[in-house]
Amino acid sequence: MSESRQQHLEIRVSGTVQGVGFRPFIYRLAREHDLLGTVLNNSRGVVIRAQGSEPALREFLSAIPSGAPPAARVDQVTARELPLDSYTEFRILPSETEGETFTQVSPDLALCDDCRRELVSDDDRRRGYPFINCTNCGPRFTIIRALPYDRPQTTMREFPLCDACRAEYDNPADRRFHAQPVACDDCGPHARFLIARGHTWETESANFRPISSAARALRLGRIVLIQGIGGFHLACDARDENTVRELRRRKQRDEKPFALMVPDEASLRACCEVSSVEWKLLTSRRAPIVLLRRKENAPVAESVAPGNPGLGAMLPYAPLHVLLLREFGGQLVMTSANLRDDPIAYETDDALARMAGIADAALVHDRPIHMFADDSVCKVIGGAARVWRRARGYVPEAVHVPVPFRVPTLAFGPQLKNTFCLGKQSFAILSQHGGDTESALAAEFSERALNHFLRLYDADIRLAACDLHPDYSTTRLAETWCAARGVPLVRVQHHHAHLAACLAENETNERAIGLALDGTGYGSDGTIWGGEALAGDFSSFARLAHLDTVPMPGGDAAAREPWRMALAWLADTFGKEPERRAKRFMDALRSEIRDDSLRALLEATQREGLFPRTSSLGRLFDAVAALVFFGARRQYEGQAAMLLEYLISPAPAVPYPMDVVERNGRWILSPKPLFQELTRDLERGVAAEIIARRFHEGIVAGFCRVCDLARERTGLNTVALSGGCFQNEFLHTNCEKRLTDSGFRVLTHRQVPPNDGGVALGQAVIANAHTMD
Ligand code: ZN
Ligand code: ZN
Ligand code: FE
Repeated sequence: MSESRQQHLEIRVSGTVQGVGFRPFIYRLAREHDLLGTVLNNSRGVVIRAQGSEPALREFLSAIPSGAPPAARVDQVTARELPLDSYTEFRILPSETEGETFTQVSPDLALCDDCRRELVSDDDRRRGYPFINCTNCGPRFTIIRALPYDRPQTTMREFPLCDACRAEYDNPADRRFHAQPVACDDCGPHARFLIARGHTWETESANFRPISSAARALRLGRIVLIQGIGGFHLACDARDENTVRELRRRKQRDEKPFALMVPDEASLRACCEVSSVEWKLLTSRRAPIVLLRRKENAPVAESVAPGNPGLGAMLPYAPLHVLLLREFGGQLVMTSANLRDDPIAYETDDALARMAGIADAALVHDRPIHMFADDSVCKVIGGAARVWRRARGYVPEAVHVPVPFRVPTLAFGPQLKNTFCLGKQSFAILSQHGGDTESALAAEFSERALNHFLRLYDADIRLAACDLHPDYSTTRLAETWCAARGVPLVRVQHHHAHLAACLAENETNERAIGLALDGTGYGSDGTIWGGEALAGDFSSFARLAHLDTVPMPGGDAAAREPWRMALAWLADTFGKEPERRAKRFMDALRSEIRDDSLRALLEATQREGLFPRTSSLGRLFDAVAALVFFGARRQYEGQAAMLLEYLISPAPAVPYPMDVVERNGRWILSPKPLFQELTRDLERGVAAEIIARRFHEGIVAGFCRVCDLARERTGLNTVALSGGCFQNEFLHTNCEKRLTDSGFRVLTHRQVPPNDGGVALGQAVIANAHTMD
C-alpha cells in the first residue's frame, strides 16, 4: 500500500445525508480503507477530507453511494484534489456553516428493528423507554429548529446527555454515534398521563406508569389524547362501537373514515387484506397509513369507516406507540387531534386546550414538536405506492426536477389540501400537508410552516408562483408576500400545474398530453375546469379537450351538495322537466327539498350567466352518485364519488356512451347520451353495481378516445395522469391500461399526490420556465 501514490481528496456529498448516520458510516468506511482525514456536516451536506493510497480512495469513493445507510439518499458526490496534509487519524469534526444553505433534512424515521428489540428486551438499559432511537430511526424533521442538524438545533437541546448516552454518542463504533435525539430514561424526555376534569387537566400520581394508565383508560372505553411524532392523536378502542361513535360525536365528524393503528401483523391481517407491496410500505421507515381492503368480520367497529369497504391502517412507528399497543393488546382508532377539518394539534398547551372536552385523558411528553406533520396516507394502485397525503415520513424529502431552478423559487400552492413548494437547484421541496387553508387556523398553520421552511433552508426567494384563482387565500397571501419583498409572482392555471407536477416528478419536461381530472380549478376563461385534456410542458399549455360544461346550481353549494349537480345535468340533458326521465330521483329529492325552491333552482339553472359553469369530472361523479343513491347530501369531499367507486360490479359491462363534438377547435366530451342511458337504467331498476360499472367504463372510454384524437392532431405520444379523480382506482388502472395498450407512454404520480397536494410542485416548475422567456 505504501508503494502507491498518496492522494488527498476533498469529497462533497449532497442529498439526504444528515441525521441518517452518514458521518459514522464515512468514519467506518475511511478506517476500513486506511484513510486519514476528517468528515463534517456543513449547511450544504457532508464534506470529507480523505488522504490515502489512490486505489483505496477509489474504492472509498465508489462505496459512498453504494454502502450508504438505509435512510440516506446520496444525490451527488464530487471530489477535488488537495495538497497532502499531515493527518494522524480519521476524525469527525463539529458541523460548520458555509455560504448558501441547502442541505436536505431527513424526514422522521419509524422505529428501527434494533431499537425495537432493545425496547422490548428484558435487560437493555433502554427497555420500556418510550423515546428510544438511534442514527437509523427517530424524529428528525419535526424536532429540527435550524441547520446544520445538531442536537442544540433540535428540540432535544433541553436534554443534556447523561454519561452513558454521551459515551454512545461519542463512540464511532456505536449505533448511536452522533444520533442527535439519543436519550435514555435518565437524561431524556418523559411521558405523563393526564386526566380531564371538566376543562382542566390533572396529572396522575407519579406512582403509576403513564403508558399503563393510558392503556387502562383505553380498555375502559375512554378517548385518550396521545402525543406522537408530528402531532397529537385521539385514540380509542377500535372494536368498541359505542366509543368510536362517541369519538365521532365529540370530534364533530360524521362519516369520514378514521385510521387504525394495529399492534402487529396478525391483528392487521385479521382486519384487512394485505399484499406484499402493502406490507412493505407499512413496515417501511416512512410507516404511512395505507388504505387496505377490509376483511369480512374484521374485528373493527362499523363506525370506524361507515359504509366503506376499505380501512386505513398503520403500524406503531414511535416507541411510545409500540409500548402502548402491546399493553392495550388490540387495534386503536388513531385520528389526528383536531375538530372537524382543522389542522392537527402539535403544541402541548394548544393540544390540551383544544382537546379539553373531547378527550377523557391524555398521554403527553416533554419532547417538544417543533413542526407538525400529519400521518401520511398511501394507497397501492397498479402495484406501486401512491401517496395521497404527504407528510410524516416523506416531508421534507426533495423531488428531483428535470430543469434546475434558475433562482430560489416559492410556489404557494392551491387552497385545498394545501402544500407549498420550495425550488432550489435541481430540487423541489414540498411542505407537509397543511389542510384546507380556507379555515383561518389552517391558513395560520400553513404560514407557520412556510416561515419555518424559509428559515430552515435560508432561501432567498427571487421568484414566486400561485394559483390563477383570484380569491384563494393562498393567492392573496402570495400577493402580499411578494409585494412586500419585490418578488415577481407568476399565476399558474390549476390543471397546467397538475400536468407539470406529473411531468416533473417523472423527471421529464417533454411536451405531453395531460389528463387533468379533478374537482375544481379556476380556468383561464373564468369557468371552473376539472375534466381537461391539455397539451403542454412547463412553459405553456393548450386546452385540447374538456368535458362539456353545465352551470353549478347555487355556486359553491353545488360542490357540497351533489344533488345540485345531478339537477344541472338532468336539466342539460332533458330540459325543464327532468321528472319525466328521472322520476325516482326527483321524487326522492322532493322529500328533502321544497318543491318551489327546486323549481326556482331549475329555472335559474336555465338562465345564462347566473351560475358559474364547470367542466369538472369530480362534479360529474357527484351528479351520478346523487342519482344512483338518491342522496341529497354528502358528508365530506369526494364521498359521493367514492361510494360510487365502491359499488362497481366486478363483471365488465358495456360503457355508457359519451359524444365527442368539435367546437371552436376543441373537442367537447358530452355526457348527454350517458345520462340518457343511465336514467333509463335507473328507472328500469337495473342494479346499482352495473350502473356504476357502466358509468366508470364510459368515463374511461371517453377520455381515452380524447387522448387518441389528441395524439392524431399533436403527434404527442405521452400522457400524464393527474388530478384528484385518479385516486379512483378503477379510473387510474383502466385509463393506464387502455392508454398503454394503445401505445402511449403513461406517466403517473408516485412521489407527490395526484390531488391538489401536488399542485405546488407544478406551480414551481412552471414559474421557473416562465423566467426563461
Ligand atoms: Zn433505531
Ligand atoms: Zn441518557
Ligand atoms: Fe386539482
